[in-house]
Amino acid sequence: MKMVFATGNSGKLREASEILGKGFELVTPAQMGIHEDIPETGTTLRANSQQKADYIWDRCQVNCFADDTGLEVDVLGGAPGVHTARYAGDDKNFDKNMDKLLGELSRKEMEASLMRSAGIAPKKDLRRARFKSVITLIIDGQRHFFNGVLEGRIARKKAGRGGFGYDPIFIADDYPEVTLAEVTEEQKNAVSHRGKALRAMAEFLKTRTEPAVAEA
Ligand code: IMP
Repeated sequence: MKMVFATGNSGKLREASEILGKGFELVTPAQMGIHEDIPETGTTLRANSQQKADYIWDRCQVNCFADDTGLEVDVLGGAPGVHTARYAGDDKNFDKNMDKLLGELSRKEMEASLMRSAGIAPKKDLRRARFKSVITLIIDGQRHFFNGVLEGRIARKKAGRGGFGYDPIFIADDYPEVTLAEVTEEQKNAVSHRGKALRAMAEFLKTRTEPAVAEA
């Protein structure tokens, strides 16, 4: 099945091709002649993923999907959340984003240690975080939504060279000894937020295209 994946992120494209497998041919917006940044001005992950998928559908009327992902850190009240890509600025620089987050968490830990010395124990696991992905699929003009969550923690420093984005500072509960940038792509895809959402989408598409089995 041929579908446009509304992303300019080569890491996401590689992961999605790997997860969806041979039955799917993924086409990029650039291959459809769309070279501009697709706007994402919503206030939720779902609104942004819908906006990106709608953008492709409105211009090309082809089956397509988009994902929007956010990193939620509990002690920061769910930030960076919908601002994950631009946390440290509009240049969407992965390194600057990670440095900003590590700085924020160090500050929170310092505050917590002051509180501890005053006899007040912090309520939260200061590094608890999760990735959330929402996929909007548009097929024959109809929208469908799929979600995936990956629970974990923010590391104290960057480690690893694999993956992309915040992977060097995210420790998934499934692999508690290493960051996501230190596991193989296969290991990441098996547990990741996007992996879960993409597999749910693939299951949905399979049931849609498989002929119903006649009852005996
Ligand atoms: P968006 O879905 O492209 O808007 O992504 C939001 C931000 O989350 C970007 O900074 C991405 O790099 C980051 N991001 C998305 N997926 C992942 C992932 O699987 N690992 C690490 N960072 C990610």
